Parts: sequence; structure tokens; C-alpha cells
Amino acid sequence: MLTNDIRKLYLDYFAKKGHVVVKSDSLIPSNDPTLLFTSAGMVQFKSMYVSAGKLEYTRAASCQKCLRTPDLENVGRTPRHHTFFEMLGNFSFGDYFKKEALTWSWDFITNVLKLPKEALWASVYEDDNEAYELWNKVIGLPAERIVRLGKKDNFWGPVGGTGPCGPCSEIYIDFGAKYGCGKKDCKPGCDCDRFEEFWNNVFPCFDAQQDGSFKPLRNAGVDTGMGLERLASILQDTRNNYDIDIVKPLVLEAGKLTGTTYKQDAKKDVMLKVIADHSRAVTFLLADGIVSSNEGRGYVLRRIIRRAVRFGKLLGQDEPFMCKLSENVVEQMKGPYPELEERKTQISRAIKMEEERFLQTLNQGINLLDGFLDKNKGALSGENAFKLYDTYGFPLELTMEIAAEKGVKVDEKGFEKALQEQQEKARSAWKGSGEKEMSGQLAQFAKTEFTGYENYTAGVKAKVTGILKAGQSRDTLKAGEEGLIILDRSSFYGELGGQAGDTGRLLNGKFEAEVTGSEKFQQKVTVHKVKVKKGEVMTGDIVEAFVDVERREAIMRNHTATHLLHWALREVLGENVRQSGSYVGADHFRFDFNHPAGVTKEELEKIEGLINEKIQQNAAVNIKVLSVEEAKKTGAIALFGEKYGETVRVVDVEGVSKEFCGGTHVDNTGRIELVKITKESSVASGIRRIEAVSGKVALDLFKEKEKILSELVKLLNVEDGKLVERVAKLTEQIKSLEKEVSKLKKGEGVAKTEDFLKNAKEVKGAVIIVELLEGVNPGELRDIGDKIKDKVKNGVIVLFTQSEDKISYLCLVTKDLSLKVKAGAVVKEIAALTGGSGGGRDDMAQGGCKAGADLKLLLSKTSELIEKKI
Ligand SMILES: [Zn+2]
Ligand SMILES: [Zn+2]
Repeated sequence: MLTNDIRKLYLDYFAKKGHVVVKSDSLIPSNDPTLLFTSAGMVQFKSMYVSAGKLEYTRAASCQKCLRTPDLENVGRTPRHHTFFEMLGNFSFGDYFKKEALTWSWDFITNVLKLPKEALWASVYEDDNEAYELWNKVIGLPAERIVRLGKKDNFWGPVGGTGPCGPCSEIYIDFGAKYGCGKKDCKPGCDCDRFEEFWNNVFPCFDAQQDGSFKPLRNAGVDTGMGLERLASILQDTRNNYDIDIVKPLVLEAGKLTGTTYKQDAKKDVMLKVIADHSRAVTFLLADGIVSSNEGRGYVLRRIIRRAVRFGKLLGQDEPFMCKLSENVVEQMKGPYPELEERKTQISRAIKMEEERFLQTLNQGINLLDGFLDKNKGALSGENAFKLYDTYGFPLELTMEIAAEKGVKVDEKGFEKALQEQQEKARSAWKGSGEKEMSGQLAQFAKTEFTGYENYTAGVKAKVTGILKAGQSRDTLKAGEEGLIILDRSSFYGELGGQAGDTGRLLNGKFEAEVTGSEKFQQKVTVHKVKVKKGEVMTGDIVEAFVDVERREAIMRNHTATHLLHWALREVLGENVRQSGSYVGADHFRFDFNHPAGVTKEELEKIEGLINEKIQQNAAVNIKVLSVEEAKKTGAIALFGEKYGETVRVVDVEGVSKEFCGGTHVDNTGRIELVKITKESSVASGIRRIEAVSGKVALDLFKEKEKILSELVKLLNVEDGKLVERVAKLTEQIKSLEKEVSKLKKGEGVAKTEDFLKNAKEVKGAVIIVELLEGVNPGELRDIGDKIKDKVKNGVIVLFTQSEDKISYLCLVTKDLSLKVKAGAVVKEIAALTGGSGGGRDDMAQGGCKAGADLKLLLSKTSELIEKKI
């Protein structure tokens, strides 16, 4: 039975049983931003079990694409480990329970898939008599084929200690005694290969509390999971997931691409399987919009590609091959996952780039690593592992894997430390002020209380807790000096999360300073960069802090505008769009996001239109501080890889979006006034950037454009409406005039031809013409040259012309003389004289050099060198 048929039979079966067939969620979980990847079918339904509201449906079935990376090193070595796989599942949210779940499971596998009843076993949780009775009495499974297992095997969850959990019941197939260990008590749960579990029916019915107690779950129900590849391997009797119809062709293709025959060498088979598995993972990750990078999901993608490249290399392949294999994955899987076909070219291109990048350093890196491993038997230092990561692009996990092959351990902590140091250096905004000392100095301060979310217009009284200058702690700062001031509380927003820091003033009766910027150190201490204007400040002084209100409000407008932009991008370009960076300043903002292609003009217009529509609707901006758990339940978008504290701010723009965000915002979209996109560009492969302005800056931009427009109107003496037409006409005229001029010039050149012939030198009966033509382009030079040549029977013609930055030269030789003088050789010699270049045939050659040569000298030297040849 083909895998595609199994998938369809399953979904059809449960659709008939009243289930809504729900599309596979993205590999990026759409409702839990803190999860790395979707790892099971139930991830997209998690909230349905606890939801208090009315549910859209209470029965669902899906075939979910999943990714798991924790046992990466087992992939390919065992018959059943994968990174990417598909999971079939049927779900009940407060609807049916154990009886329906188990009887339907049995019906499906025995009557639809026709698995032999006598080979099937079931396990139940040791205390779950209900499930036991169902198997035994209702379904009729003999008691000797039902096993009771403990918590480890047959009680599921809770994930992370709290939330839905419950007993489960697993279905096993018995492959027969010949696969068994031969022990008397061999049964499901035994370590040997005789019994294989393939369908888990979970019955979430408890809500585990923080204190370890269980409450009844609001929507108790069913959550089942059945690995599609595993089921296919049973039905296709392959005993190995890598030999089923949708995976084996990839293993064979991997063999072709690396010149390796499958099933000849067990070690090489593992590598082929790894490559096949990874090609699936990589293709699906890219299709879901993940981009290779050095952090978060992008890093997992990078690791998987690079791991496959290294295995390819071990099999002797030095060229990119994963990009080709990915095309086979698309062919294999595009039926159920049409998104693959849509993005086929981009996927293959992205893989190829990543492969090429890694192949460039792979050899050097491996040599270096081999050297390290030979020298340091037993352990590889974190510093060396970091060097491999930083300079040669070796993911730590890859280095560890290669080292482990030689029995060497890697100092992971040392690696982390080296990585952190580098990141701190890169992140540090304290350049030039003694970075290292500075972080040491700043770490000692207590958290600055931020008072400036609502209250930024009035002054805030605060105590000076620290003064720093040039990385050194100070007691005072005097008029004329610059330094950093730390306060116990401040209304200044320190630069963080892409939002620019506030500027303003600090003052008291005896002192005044201008704050030119403020930054947040380790999300904790706000540092005010100051220039003291008047008096003197001492630690312990009380000062009043005033934020530059106008500038701050411009920043607030821009920050709320980025949330509108993020939303509009997802509306227009699709849900796959995810923020990868942003900058919010007073004068403009920019937003980086993943998208495989440039955003078209039409799309940009749509995006801008949506944003301005929302501005006109005066949508309220509500800000709530919630626990991370509560915030997640609201469906707010979080930035993956960000670390969030116990509580987070959720910025909720009514009818637009909810985002985890610590920034400052206007309370109503109407206050943004206007947004104008100014630029769209590429920042890295697969990452686009949009820049825009809002409020007064946007208005100023329009004013400026209007000014240009009115000047043009005046200059061209037409009405506004006729401007385009007029300019088009002018351009047309200029083109035709240029043509005219060029014709005239040629005519002039022809007229000069006569003069050239008159001035020509004669050497041994051959004519030598070496001339400079003014204001002619290289193409025209050729025309004129040909005309002269027509009139010379026996001779050499060299013409020069000069533009602003370039000298061009042309040499023509008549037939009679071509044995003695070769045009190509003449041009090469001229090139040698001028430091330029050139070449061509025996009868015609061209070249050029930078402007600046003494042309008179060049002409005479050229003449000389030709004479010598004749
Ligand atoms: Zn056994
Ligand atoms: Zn934000």
C-alpha cells in the first residue's frame, strides 16, 4: 500500500466519523512562538483542551509535518529515527472518549488497512481498567495480548510539568518470534525488535497543577498519534522506514549523487539514509520560510544542511548535491504539500548557496580539526571548537560528532564562553569607551526603574547612582565634560529591541546636562550619555530627568507603525512572514523579515494602503502586562529566540495584532497620521528590508517632493497634469538629437579622412596613419577607421579617441601588409605603453586604457613602433 494512499485512507476514515480534516500546521508552530518546531500533531490543537470559549469544532483529524532534532545522531542508524516525519492523528476536544477512540482505531487498522488481527497487541496504563475492559470485552482482544504498563510507557504528559495529561493506550504489531529475544516474558515493552508500537491513543483528562495535584481537564478528550512512515513500513513490510516508497527513492538518489551503491556497505548505508532524511527536513524547513542563520531555527536548518554536506564529502562528493536531491523531495511530496512545488526553485537555490558556502571552508576546517584531534587526544578545547565555528562554519554539534568518531570530547562550556564573548563584543555599543571595563562597571548597578511608558512628558526626580567616564567610575562630572550617568529611576527609554534610546536633559538647581542618547545595559541598567552644560553633578545628587518629548513621540509613532507593517506584510505576503530585525528611530523605521523574493511595487502599494487604512480607523492600542503563559494564550506573536522574563508586555493593536513588545507606543493608531514606505531592499539571502517614515517626517517628505514637482512645472512651463507627457517628449527629442549629433560627427570624421590621408607618412611604400579623433565614441571610431581603410591600399591605421576617463584605440591593417604587421600585436604594444589592455585579429584590433596618458607622445611612439615593423 502506497504511503500517499495510507494518508488519504486515514483522513477519509475520520472525516466519515465526523472529524474536521485540518491542514498540517507549519513546521513553525503558529500558536506557540516559544516552541522551536512542531513536533506532534496535537501542537496546533493544544489550546482546544483548555479553552473556555465555544469551539469551532470538537473533532479533528490531521496529517502533520513534524520535525524533531534531539536524537539527530540516531537518524539513519536505527530503522525508525527521522528529523522530518509525518504524523497522523485524530483528536477529540470534550467530545468522544476512550470507547470511540479505541474501537475506531481497531476498525481502521483491521478493516481498512487489513492488518492481521492475530498479530496485534495493546498496552494500557496500569490503573486504566476502563481501557483494558474496552480492549478485552468490547473489541475482543484476548487478555494475553493486552499488557499493563507503568507511567513511563503509558501515561502522557504533562509537557513542562503543568497542563493537560492523561493515560494512554498503545497498539503494537508482533513481527514474530524470529525477531524476538527468545525470553519467556518477551512482550510489548521489551527492548528487542519483535514488537513495534505504531499508534498511541492518549486520553488527556487531567490538568496538572503547579503543586503536583491533578484537576479535571476542561475539555477532556483524545489525542492520537501514528507515525506515517512507520505505518507504511509495516504495510509495505520493509522493517525499515528508509525502504518505504516515499523515502527509498531518495536514498537511492543520494547514492547516485555521491557515487555510492546502497546496501553494499553498512557504514555507507547509514550516510545515505542520513542524507535522504536531511534532504526532506531541509526542503520542508525552507518551504516554511526558515532561512539559514546562526541562531534559533535558522541554525537548526544550517546544522542539518552542513551535516549532510559533510556526509556527502565522506562519500567523495565535493560539489553541491543536496540542492539536487531537494528537487526529488519536491517531486515525491508535492501531492500532499503543494507549497513545495510553489517554492521549488528558491528552495534549491537556498540549499545550493549554503552548500557552496560550507564547501569553501570544509576542507580547511577538517584538516584543522584533524590536527587538533591528533594533538589533543582526549579533549578538544572550547576555543578551538569556536575557531572552527567562527572561521570555518562548523556547527558545534558537527565538531562534536566528528570528534566523537575519534573518541574525543569537546569542551562545550568553553565553546559557549567563547561564543558569548564574541557576541558581547559585537553587540557592545560601548566602543571607544573601554568596552570590557565598562561592562564590568555597569554590571554592579541595580536595575533602573523605568517610569517612562505613560509618563514621559513631565520631569522625573531621580538619584544619581553612578557616574562613568572613559570606562572609569567617578564621583563628579563638571561643565564641559562628557560621560555616562546612571539613575535609580528614569523616564528615558534605553535603546533596546531595535527602538532608539531617548534624548533630553538632566538638571537640578546647580547643574544641567544634555542627554545625547541612552542605552539599556543587559536589559537592566539605563545609561544616559551626557554632556554637562552647567555646574557639576555628584553621585547621590537628586536630578530631574526630562525626555525630549517631540522626538520620543516620533519614535512612538514609528514603533506602532512597525506593528502595523508587520501585520500588513503577513496579510499581503502570507503568514510565513516573520520579523528578523527592526530599527525604530525618530526619523524613520525599518523592518527586516524573511521572504524569498523582492516585494513587488503592487504588493508594496497594498501594504502601505492597509497600514494607512488602519491609521484612519483610529484603532486603539491596548497594552497589558501578563505572565508568559497568559500572553501565549492570547495568541500574541513573540520573537523566537528572545528570552522573556516572568511577565511580558503584550501590545494589542485592535483588529491588527498582538505582539510581545517592550517598546513605547501611541495609544491610538490615528496618532501615527500617515505612513510612507520609502525603500525595499535585500539584506541577506532570503531576508528583505522595508524602510518607511511616519507622521511629520512623512508629511515633510511629501512637501519636499511637491517642491521638486513645482520647480519642474515651472522649469518646463507646463501644468502639473502634463508633466509626464512633457518629460517623455523631451526624452524622445534628446534621443533623436543625439542620433543626429552622432551622424554629424561621423560626417566630420569622414571629412577629416581626407586630411589624414594627406598627412599620412609613407614608409617603404606603406602608408601609416596615426591620429587622434576628438569627441567620438569607440563605435564611431570603428566606422571612421573602416572608411579610411577603404581609401588606403597598403597601410596601417591607428586611431585614438579620448573620453572623460578613458582612452580608446583602434588599429586596422590592410591585407597586403598583414604578413608584416598584425593589428592585434600593435594594440598589445600600445596597451603595454599605456598600462591598458587590448587585442584582436590580424586585420583589426581594439583596446583601451585609463585617461591621463600624454597623447602626443603616445601617438609618436605608436608611429615609431609601426615603422619598425615595416
Ligand atoms: Zn523481547
Ligand atoms: Zn514592538
